[in-house]
Amino acid sequence: MIFRMLFSQLVEYYEKIEATTSRIEMTNLLVELLKKSPQEVIDKIVYLTIGEIYPPFIGIELGVADKLALRAVKLVSGQSEKLVKEEYGKLGDIGLVGEKLLQRRSQITLHMKELTVQEVYQSLEKIAKTTGEGAMDTKVQILVGLLSSATPKEAKYILRIVTGKLRLGIADMTILDALAILYGGGKEARELFERAYNITSDIGYVAKIAVSEGLEGIKNVKITIGRPIRPMLAERLSSAEEILSKMGGVCIAEYKYDGERMQIHKKGNEVIIFSRRQENITSQYPDVVKIVKEGITADTAILECEAVAIDRETGDVLPFQELMHRKRKHEIDKAVEEYPVSLYFFDVLYVDGKDLTLQPLEERRRILEQIVKISDRVNLSKAIITDNSLELERFFHEAVELGCEGLVVKSLGREAIYRAGARGWLWIKYKRDYKSEMIDTVDLVVVGAFHGRGRRSGKYGALLMAAYDPERDVFPSVCKVGSGFTDEDLEKLPMILDQYKIAHRHARVETGMEAEIWFEPKLVLEIIGAEITLSPIHRAGWNLIKEDTGLAIRFPRFTGRYRFDKAPEDATTIKELLDMYNSQLKKIVETPIS
Ligand code: ATP
Repeated sequence: MIFRMLFSQLVEYYEKIEATTSRIEMTNLLVELLKKSPQEVIDKIVYLTIGEIYPPFIGIELGVADKLALRAVKLVSGQSEKLVKEEYGKLGDIGLVGEKLLQRRSQITLHMKELTVQEVYQSLEKIAKTTGEGAMDTKVQILVGLLSSATPKEAKYILRIVTGKLRLGIADMTILDALAILYGGGKEARELFERAYNITSDIGYVAKIAVSEGLEGIKNVKITIGRPIRPMLAERLSSAEEILSKMGGVCIAEYKYDGERMQIHKKGNEVIIFSRRQENITSQYPDVVKIVKEGITADTAILECEAVAIDRETGDVLPFQELMHRKRKHEIDKAVEEYPVSLYFFDVLYVDGKDLTLQPLEERRRILEQIVKISDRVNLSKAIITDNSLELERFFHEAVELGCEGLVVKSLGREAIYRAGARGWLWIKYKRDYKSEMIDTVDLVVVGAFHGRGRRSGKYGALLMAAYDPERDVFPSVCKVGSGFTDEDLEKLPMILDQYKIAHRHARVETGMEAEIWFEPKLVLEIIGAEITLSPIHRAGWNLIKEDTGLAIRFPRFTGRYRFDKAPEDATTIKELLDMYNSQLKKIVETPIS
């Protein structure tokens, strides 16, 4: 027996759902619809109802432009382009335009075959999968074929779905409610359905299991390589004391790297990378695939990391915006070369057949340490365990200064499982409320240096820079700068600085950083940065804003100007730095993303 459902039946429900303003009634209608949905097509019905045809990780989208869909409406309705455009201008909804114009269709549609859900779905699938040369024309043709067999009401919904504008107001969570009512005996069973969904990210699959295997099937849903797990998310607080007390007095704090979250699935030689939104982004990151094959020793694993753009020359982390260069479809090899990334692993959810999501974080981190082979490009997130709020705050300032967003502070208790798909208090993000943008350059004195690695080996990799404090006649450090130097600068600097080399830190230099080479404070360079931040490492303005804290420059770079005309005592003073910090201090306004 073939179980089918007419598309007109589905449309009837869409009409009712669209008409209701009550959330309860909407869920009830959905329950009724799912109850009538045959096992064979329930997943497809679910995808269509949320306006999709696949779960997000498949990476195939309909996304037909309105213009293209209007072409199909014109062809099927036999109306002029002018009229179609006019109607679109008036109604503003491609669905309504199609519905109205198809009512005026000239052919007799008496013997029109009734469309099934399966047929509509298959056509939409074909439209989505058509790519390459002439794809647009082929898409229009398929749509024309589909609309020719559709009633005006059906056309309304087909057009909305195909252009990504269904907007019934039904999301994955509404479907879960309905499934829990239908197959779990009530909303109480919702948690089980939610877990099945959270570890598969596939609402259609969950619906299919529910209808075919019932509650037992739902309980048995397992993590699978290739299906992304929905991410655990953090709550937010902005003081170290509050965070520690919320964590019960002790926590593990990790740098919050500012890059792209990746969930990496590895099975033998196969690697898949999913984004925070469960899209498959593997093709954008062939370098990450390679790094993972070499850097993860487990055969099968699901891990989470933050991929951060790094400076090709220095290996320093770069601002998040730099990663945007990797969001492209063409010339990927070039982007890989120009914008390399480092991975900072912070969690492991599955290893060699074992689901670790219900294990406490301490255990997961222990396993993570065993399977991650640290290298230039592969690291674990930097972490400390602490019960001291001052230490936590210090670690926070250090993270910000080094280019991170702040910290993710995590619970260490037995209850600290990986709560897939949930934002909760087991993780708390600690970010800045204020930031001080740097708009002017400063003139700083070179007081130390660090040996270069890789392309810079044998030269200086970075310089330690200081400002001037005229009151105490000392040079407190402000930043370590590695960016902005040309090849010519790198050749020239050792030649200039050699004459100032000394065996240890100069008596007038104050810093919390241990340079590898020290200099007499002589050479002045012009530096610009993104922000002035608080720092536990650098000594400029020490204790002036906060106890045990100085000022530092975040993302510093050399502008190219050697200030041979300036004596070290002419360098930017502490007071000037403080004024710059205070005058630009602004509250950070966040744009929330769900
Ligand atoms: P945000 O925009 O602040 O990153 P979000 O909603 O994406 O917010 P949150 O749960 O608020 O996510 O913050 C956690 C995010 O921080 C993760 O999604 C991940 O991308 C990033 N991150 C960076 N470092 C870590 C880390 N060590 N542990 C966990 N998450 C980290």
